[in-house]
Order: sequence, then C-alpha cells, then structure tokens
Amino acid sequence: MKILVFNAGSSSVKFGIFDTRIDDPRVVKAEFEHFLDGYCDLHFQLGGEQGETLHHRVKVTDVEHAIENIPNLLEQWGYDDFDAIGHRVVHGGTLLTAAVRIDNKTLSLIEDATPLAPLHNPANLSGIYISQEIWPDKPQVAVFDTSFHKTIPEEAYSYAIPKSWRQLGVRRYGFHGTSHHYVALRVADALQTPLSDLRIISCHLGNGASVCAINHGVSVDTSMGMTPLEGLVMGTRSGDVDPGLFSFLSRHSGMSIEEIERQLYHNSGLKALGGSSDLRNIEQQAAEGSSDAQLAINVYAYRVRKYLGAYSAVMGGVDVVVFTGGIGENSATMRQRICDQLHFLGLSLDVNKNSSLQLSAFDSQLINHEISRIKVIVTRTSEQWMIAKEVQQHLESARLQENKDNCVIPVAVSARHVHLSRHAVELLFGKGYQLNVLRTLRQPGSWAALETVELIGPRGIISNVRILGPEREQTQIEVSRTDTFTLGIEAPVRASGKLDNTPPIRLRGPCGELVTRGMIVAARHIHMHSDDALAWGLNDGDLVDVELGEGERRTLFANTKVRVNGNFLTEMHIDTDEANAAGITFSTKGHLVNKQSDSIVTIVNKKQQTLK
Ligand code: ADP
Repeated sequence: MKILVFNAGSSSVKFGIFDTRIDDPRVVKAEFEHFLDGYCDLHFQLGGEQGETLHHRVKVTDVEHAIENIPNLLEQWGYDDFDAIGHRVVHGGTLLTAAVRIDNKTLSLIEDATPLAPLHNPANLSGIYISQEIWPDKPQVAVFDTSFHKTIPEEAYSYAIPKSWRQLGVRRYGFHGTSHHYVALRVADALQTPLSDLRIISCHLGNGASVCAINHGVSVDTSMGMTPLEGLVMGTRSGDVDPGLFSFLSRHSGMSIEEIERQLYHNSGLKALGGSSDLRNIEQQAAEGSSDAQLAINVYAYRVRKYLGAYSAVMGGVDVVVFTGGIGENSATMRQRICDQLHFLGLSLDVNKNSSLQLSAFDSQLINHEISRIKVIVTRTSEQWMIAKEVQQHLESARLQENKDNCVIPVAVSARHVHLSRHAVELLFGKGYQLNVLRTLRQPGSWAALETVELIGPRGIISNVRILGPEREQTQIEVSRTDTFTLGIEAPVRASGKLDNTPPIRLRGPCGELVTRGMIVAARHIHMHSDDALAWGLNDGDLVDVELGEGERRTLFANTKVRVNGNFLTEMHIDTDEANAAGITFSTKGHLVNKQSDSIVTIVNKKQQTLK
C-alpha cells in the first residue's frame, strides 16, 4: 500500500510517500519551509534513503500554496499513484485516541480539541481541508500525537487541581506519541525481544523534546502534559516551570497571560538560557567559554536525567534507554552528560561507542558498556513512517469491521486459578506429590487438577482456588481485579509468564505454606490456531479489538493480544470481572473488529539487524 503522509504546521509542511511493501519504505520525503517574500525553501529526496537530497528556493507564498503545489510535484517526480493519505494531528483530546478515517464527525472532534493545542491543531486542520479538496476520492486518515499515551494511568495523567477544571479536560495528554511508539518498536526489533518484555525510557530530543516511560509496550507516563509546553527544556520552550510565575509576572511586570505564554513557548528553553535554540551553536559557544551556553547545556542534561530517574521509579526499573530526535541522534556530548551518574541504576555508557557513533536510517546502535545492565540505544525516529503504518492498519481494520460476521471467535471465561512449579507442589502437598487430573481443558495439553489451594493476603483469604496443569517452571497466580481487593494485594495486568516485579502472596496447601511472587491479573488474550491467523491476516503478538455481548451490555475489549500456534484451539480468554462487565455468563462469541501490529518488521526491512 502506498501512503501519502502529511505533517502540516503553521510555518512548514513536511510530506512523504511510503510504500509499505518494500524494504526501504520511504520513497519520497519533502519539506517546504522558510516562507519569505513570496518564496520558500523546498528540500526533497526521491528514491528512499539512498536518494540524494536536493534543495531549491521556489516561488511559493505560504503553507496553503505549498500544499496546492504537491500534486504537480508528485506527478513530476512520478509518485502520484498512492492509495491513501495520512495526516498528523497533534491533539486528539480525550475522544480521538486512535487513527480515524476523516469525515465530518472526525473534523468536528478535532475542532473541539483545538483549544488544547491552539498553536498546532488549526494548521493540521487546514492541511486536511486543502487535501480533501485536492484528493476528494482518496481515503484520508488522521493520526494523533496524543493517542499512544491513552494508556497512561489516572494517577499519572491527573493534575491535583479542582475537579471542575479536570472536567474541562485539564489533564496530561502527552505528545510525540508516534515517535515514542516508533522508537520503542525499533528497540524491540533491534534487541529481538518482544516489546511486551521491555521497560523502555524513550528520550525524543529535538526542537520539541519529551521523555516517555513505556512499560511492557504501553506508555505509562510522559513529560509533556496538557500542552507540549511541560517537561524538558526545549529549543524555545521552557518545559517545567512553577505555575505561580503567571501571577508573579503579571503583578510585577504587568504582562498579560497571553504574553507570558508566548514567551514560554517562543523565547524560553535553550534560546533563553544559551542565546540560540540550536544546540550546535550552544555547544560551540560553551566550548569558547560562554557561561550562559554552559548553563544551558547543564540545565538541559540535568532535566533529562531527572526524568530518567523518575521514570525508572515509575516502572520499578528500566531495561533500555533510547535516544532519538536531532539532539538525541547527533549530540554525543549531550548523551554522555545525561547518562553520567546513572551507574547506580545499572547504566554505564561506552564513551568510545557513544562518541564514534555513525547512524543511518532504519539503524539502531548500542552505546552502553558491555557491563551495563541497562541497554542504551540511539535510533533515528520516523514519525511519518509510523503515521503511514497506522493508516495502513486503520484501513485493514476497517476491512475487518466490514467483514466482522466472518471473524467470529469463541470466548471462554477464566475463573481464578494457579499454575504451580514442582517446588511449590512439594511444599504445598508433600515431597514427590503428583497432581491428579480432574478434567481436561479445551486448550490441547492443559487440564484442571483435582487439588486446590488457598490464597492468603493481608486483607482476606480466597479458598478452593483450582490448580491448572501441567506444572510450570514458575508459579503463577491468576486472579481478577476484584480478587486483588479481597486479598488486599495490588497485582499488575500481565500476559502469562511475564512475572517480573509481581507482588508476593502466601499459598496454603494441605501440607504446608509458601510465599511466592507471580500474582497477576491476566491480560486478555486470544489463543489462535495458525490457520485462523493466516485467514484473518494476523501475526503472533498483534493486538486486536473484539466486540462481545449483545444489546445494552455490548462491550469492546480493546488491545487483546493474539498468540498464534499450530497447536492452539482458537479461543479468547477473559477473566470473571471482564465477563461480568459484558454480561457474559460462561461462554459466548466475539467479533474481531480492529487490529494493531506490535511488530515493526512487518513493514521495515525484514532483515534482522545485528547490534554491535
Ligand atoms: P524537530 O523537533 O523540529 O523535528 P529535530 O529533531 O530535527 O527537530 O532536532 C533539531 C535540533 O537538533 C536542532 O535544533 C539542533 O539543536 C539539534 N541538532 C541537530 N544536529 C545536531 C548535532 N550534530 N549536534 C548537536 N545538536 C544537533
């Protein structure tokens, strides 16, 4: 599928054509910028990463005029044959949390979110309106910077402010979502480890900059907030400040709120501290002895390091720190300053690898020392590529939706249960004890045991919890969210087998007790036979949305992980809380209505990378 991707800003337009069937998916990349006196700069690169980048000064007056010129340019370059258009939209508000086909309803929801991003959404919208006029017959899809952060939990997105303000939509939304998601996928691909096994801190350091904590594949916190002003020091934006400065400055210097806001967006950050928004100039001046430039560098690095510490605490540890964006990709000295003093976390940079790094497109390089527990990776971001991928997935999902009567999945409700290791069986039932089969289960090879155990928490006890066989390497206790309150123990939502940092719980059997980690609320999932996966165009690890139940209790179970295996019987597993929410008694059928791929290798160079 060929997709034209647009990023229309107020002072520049970036666009590209991505062909999702080939190894180097970007076949055209172009940008109009620096509009002055009826002319602007046009940079373009044809033929993917190998193509030469050309620069022209062209007679184009403004952003609208630039977009109107795109059909002619694409025709001249021989790239006017594409299937769909993807538009970057900065703010989707609370309602637009995934890529969506652009129609009148979508446009009015984007308009509604505009007060939250008054500098960005109007420009994005104007790009959409013009391209609808130019290409009325092409499917057009909006992709939001905010949507990757829809998984941030309430305690991380809530500001401690009056409820009536929160009801107006004042909360953390987060931005750079397509970039953080893209680099996380790149990291997983480079390390050949599923994203769901990694705790990643992604540092997108460009003109705009943000850090994101990505815990087992989902964003759990990010430094930008309700607007792209919060968080790190940026080119011209302040990042974190005390909100008390608004009243202080208006009292002491008579500035209006609008003026203070303008200064925080356009005359702060590196520009205010070091005299230039470009880190290259600041690094040069710092080397020549400018104390302002030195301070700017120190404040910048300090702020990023502070967030690295905070997000390590948020995730209970970190496996990978990834740098991207103009500064993250290019400034070895800034990377070193940020990583200095993080030895206590297990992060040790290889200074030679860091300073000699040469990065090419679709490349990820390790710059940590061999002894470092935390991997440090530098990779080039490609927000436009991620937009193309989301557009493709959205259009494929729409086809699934149209065909939903053919994508039917049986659903089974899993009651609480435990899987025991040999060690646990012997402690609970006695040395050499063998569990007895009560009945076989539908998944080939698995069975319910005759034996049960008691779960004992600080608040309560749950008796008669069934053991499921066969024995496993690690003991795993699967309960519902409600059970965690009965027991008085908080447990994370996890895929089976992902037991790191799970809480301890006491199990009691007829012969003894055992305190073990391994309690989870099982993440909903589908066991899928490979023939069904092939028929429905799904891969192992994809996330799908499944519609369950009927009538007023019809419920959409989003982000359901697909596990593909030739031995599986196709069946979705949900827990008792989820079943109750959808009014399902013991079994039902669901319809697949949406899919997202968790794997980057489906589109970008299928060759595996080796990390040196
Ligand atoms: P945007 O957020 O606009 O996409 P970029 O990601 O392209 O911005 O980042 C631009 C910034 O990257 C520049 O302002 C500059 O500060 C920084 N940068 C680019 N190359 C280098 C370099 N070699 N050394 C230090 N900083 C660099």
